[in-house]
Amino acid sequence: MSSPDHASAHASTNASASTNAADPSAFVSRHGFATTYGHGVATGVGDRPGSVVAVCDPEVWQWFGPAFGPAPDLRIDAVELSPAHLDELAGSVPADATIIGIGGGVAMDVAKWVHWRRGLPLIQVPTLPSVNACFTRMTALRDGGRVRYEGNAIPEQVIVDFDIFQAAPPALVRAGIGDVLSCHTALWDWRVGVAAGFDPAWDDDSAGSSMRYIDALRRAAPGIHDVTDAGIASLMELHREIGWRCHEMQHARFEEGSEHFFAYCFEEVTGRTILHGELVSVGVLIMSAIQGNNSWLPRSIVHSAGTRHRPQDLAITWDEIDATLDHLRAFTTAGGYWHSVIQEGFDVGRAKEQARAALDFD
Ligand SMILES: [Zn+2]
Repeated sequence: MSSPDHASAHASTNASASTNAADPSAFVSRHGFATTYGHGVATGVGDRPGSVVAVCDPEVWQWFGPAFGPAPDLRIDAVELSPAHLDELAGSVPADATIIGIGGGVAMDVAKWVHWRRGLPLIQVPTLPSVNACFTRMTALRDGGRVRYEGNAIPEQVIVDFDIFQAAPPALVRAGIGDVLSCHTALWDWRVGVAAGFDPAWDDDSAGSSMRYIDALRRAAPGIHDVTDAGIASLMELHREIGWRCHEMQHARFEEGSEHFFAYCFEEVTGRTILHGELVSVGVLIMSAIQGNNSWLPRSIVHSAGTRHRPQDLAITWDEIDATLDHLRAFTTAGGYWHSVIQEGFDVGRAKEQARAALDFD
């Protein structure tokens, strides 16, 4: 076999393994999309045969554009995720195009949709590790005020350029732990959900994996704090593994629980959002305390990764957190979210006190 797909998958395995080989704390996924790691590996990504469509966050294009290569045949600003808008974009793309997504979660999701709807090749260049969207198959559509997942995107390659991540403000990279840290609280919620008769069947293998991911994240945290090559690679490899497992299990119960419901409820109550990984990390710190679930562990990971978590550092207020907690039970019930600690004797007054203690550390 010497197809381009096979060659790139092979190269990616070697690249990530060698990046991490020098660091015994590193995590290397054995699953997921072909991924290339290195310095400058995204430079010239647009230089390829046929038409090229760049799907990009507009502000990211301002600095990435000169490194893209020849000007793309079409550039799509990734700003909106309604299905009607995305289908209109998909219809505008040339039939011989390669789709190249560049940016954060919205750019990855728009690129996935255009690629999947039109059956065209896809390359993803994440510019931040704040979400795992480059490693998941479905697009998070915003459909009539709700989030809905649809699609089945498989990129030829995900390109992780250390230079891009290391040029970003470190806080944005350190936020990337949120969607891995969430395994800690989600696992607890899944367990009580199964006990209450509500959830996808318990799976010892996946439950054990969640704990391995948390342990790998703990070991990688100092490198994530320092934004080293190995720290970035471990974090992205964890996102790659978790993206693969979501598809393998056909549900995300092992990584999405009350910490994400807290985040979604915060967005509904306040009408705004902050960086996803930071909001989810706050959710993990609060919910693990309410669960009585080894809250020292996420706390020590947040501490050593240096992830922002105190309200004043995130430009959110205690009033907003209190309002989120006030609304949380009604929000999760009305929204049909999975059973979690929020349905298990959740006391709002006590939760507010626990939240204050949970977020008060360096
Ligand atoms: Zn998430």
